[in-house]
Amino acid sequence: MDFLRPRTWAEALDLKAARPEATPIQGGTDVMVEINLDKGRPAALLDLTPIPELREWSREGDVIRLGAGVTYARLIGELGACLPGLAQASRTVGSPQIRNRGTVAGNLGAASPAGDSHPPLLACDAVVEAESVRGARLIPIGEFYTGVKRNALAPDELIRAVRVPVARGPQYFSKIGTRNAMVIAVCSFSIALHAAERRVGTGVGSAAPTPRRAVAAEEFAAARLDWQGRSPLDPGVARRFGELVAGAAAPIDDVRGRAAYRTHALAVLARRALGWAWADFRADTRADSGRDSGRDSGGGSGAGDDRGSA
Ligand SMILES: Cc1cc2nc3c(=O)[nH]c(=O)nc-3n(C[C@H](O)[C@H](O)[C@H](O)COP(=O)(O)OP(=O)(O)OC[C@H]3O[C@@H](n4cnc5c(N)ncnc54)[C@H](O)[C@@H]3O)c2cc1C
Repeated sequence: MDFLRPRTWAEALDLKAARPEATPIQGGTDVMVEINLDKGRPAALLDLTPIPELREWSREGDVIRLGAGVTYARLIGELGACLPGLAQASRTVGSPQIRNRGTVAGNLGAASPAGDSHPPLLACDAVVEAESVRGARLIPIGEFYTGVKRNALAPDELIRAVRVPVARGPQYFSKIGTRNAMVIAVCSFSIALHAAERRVGTGVGSAAPTPRRAVAAEEFAAARLDWQGRSPLDPGVARRFGELVAGAAAPIDDVRGRAAYRTHALAVLARRALGWAWADFRADTRADSGRDSGRDSGGGSGAGDDRGSA
């Protein structure tokens, strides 16, 4: 197996153009598992870890540009306040060791339907920055997932960064696993209230061939929430929202869970997540006044906290 080690981004793009079959490796927490389990041996590994700019994030207006090499640990520590949904999801990924190596770009590269970053990226309208020697292009997250473990990258393209809008309202991520930590999701759900636009974003994980939004649920909730008066959430609206989210899924029976359980659990996760997000919105009078950040990054919901389980 060839081991390609570019020192610059331009060199990485040249190598990928010359060797499109080369497997990029960032944190290696997916790639090395596949190799160790003998699930295929790449002809070449393209090691992206020496490229300094991939390890950086920056703020460009209301968007965080997250370099492909920024680890979950750094995202949690440095960006929890402005990307609360993605930070919550990141807290549930693997163990500290995995979070110290693994990246959102690697999650996107693997494109597993169960990847934890996908629901919050969908809920908040992230955009993937892909590049090749032919040029750069922006791929809206909803167009990125093309099948089970398949994505929209061309063979010569690499992910340079992910652009994630700064939260403009409460965001939550919830995940069901067979235990509290170190688990791949049985199913997962993320919500983002886009308060200024009176819009609801959703992302459903591990319950269809690809991560997906629950569009009917988004439209239903956006039309029925009392954005102006901030009155309490109608339990009937919350329940129907959960049903619509579950209806958007197309789960299968597999080793982690049965389709019927996933459908039931998603409805519960979604109903609860809408309740938490709406309660935050009602409590925060700044929520629709263009503030910079969402919820504090400290506590965290999702797995490991009672808000993460159905
Ligand atoms: C013990 C363990 C627990 C785990 N738990 C979880 C979990 O709870 N939730 C979860 O979602 N995942 C989990 N994972 C999977 C893995 O950690 C994540 O998918 C992680 O985000 C992968 O990131 P990485 O940087 O390590 O990717 P890598 O392994 O380096 O790469 C993953 C894929 O992305 C491609 N790739 C990497 N960088 C780029 C790039 N810049 N451009 C294009 N393609 C690229 C690679 O070729 C490969 O196909 C776990 C893994 C292990 C080993």
